[in-house]
Amino acid sequence: MGGGGGLTAVTRLVLPGASLAVGETLVPRSVAHHARVNRVLPGEPVELLDLAGRIAVGKLSSWNPDGSCWVEVFELVSGRGEPPLPLTLALAVLHTQAFDWAVEKATELGATAVVPVLTERVQGRNHEKRVARWQRVACAAVAQCGRSLAPQVRAPQPLGSFLAEARGLKVVADFAGEAVSRLGPADAEGVVVLVGPEGGFSEQERAAIAEAGFSRVYLGPRTLRAETAAMSALVLVQSALGWWTK
Ligand code: SAM
Repeated sequence: MGGGGGLTAVTRLVLPGASLAVGETLVPRSVAHHARVNRVLPGEPVELLDLAGRIAVGKLSSWNPDGSCWVEVFELVSGRGEPPLPLTLALAVLHTQAFDWAVEKATELGATAVVPVLTERVQGRNHEKRVARWQRVACAAVAQCGRSLAPQVRAPQPLGSFLAEARGLKVVADFAGEAVSRLGPADAEGVVVLVGPEGGFSEQERAAIAEAGFSRVYLGPRTLRAETAAMSALVLVQSALGWWTK
């Protein structure tokens, strides 16, 4: 994992796809607005994020009359806040805004991909229309938490095709599961964490998930809401794999 750049009290400005480099960078008014709202003064620290893996660490040099600003970039860092291997959260689609919350928190907790999964008990329809919003939520969370990369938020996928494609250490949150400490090691393909909908998986789905090689993990003696279960699983699995260290 890379390092560099502080994580506290820094205003982060998002320039998707920008060619970040050491030296003076002009930040357009639309992006600089966030620094203006935060009342960043010349000489104070800022970071520029390209959302593709690079963070430019620097300070605000000057404000321009048109609302744009110059930032002096000292250093480029990559890999900050990223897990050592790919980490996918596959969460059955929640028809409420709880799914937005889940995308935001999964981003903060290091997920590198979020797959909205369509299962028998998922409520509502046309969930693909929500993907652009979820992507925006993920990008905003990246800027807030200071990691290098935005997770991929994929299009909603039926459980069957998701199971057929899942690779790496496969884990499903299940009341009949084992303690998370029994998880095997992850390989280079990383880890996939699957969590069911509010109504749970059907018995047929549970059988298909087991058939696809998912290990069941228990998240404790309470019925967690799906989004809580997802965050709990992300933390516990990463902790069990030794990814939750300083
Ligand atoms: N009545 C549903 C059932 O019995 O499956 C409750 C589903 S729960 C609200 C939503 C999902 O969160 C479950 O499908 C499971 O993946 C996960 N989950 C919630 N609490 C859990 C726990 N204590 N252990 C393991 N998984 C849990």
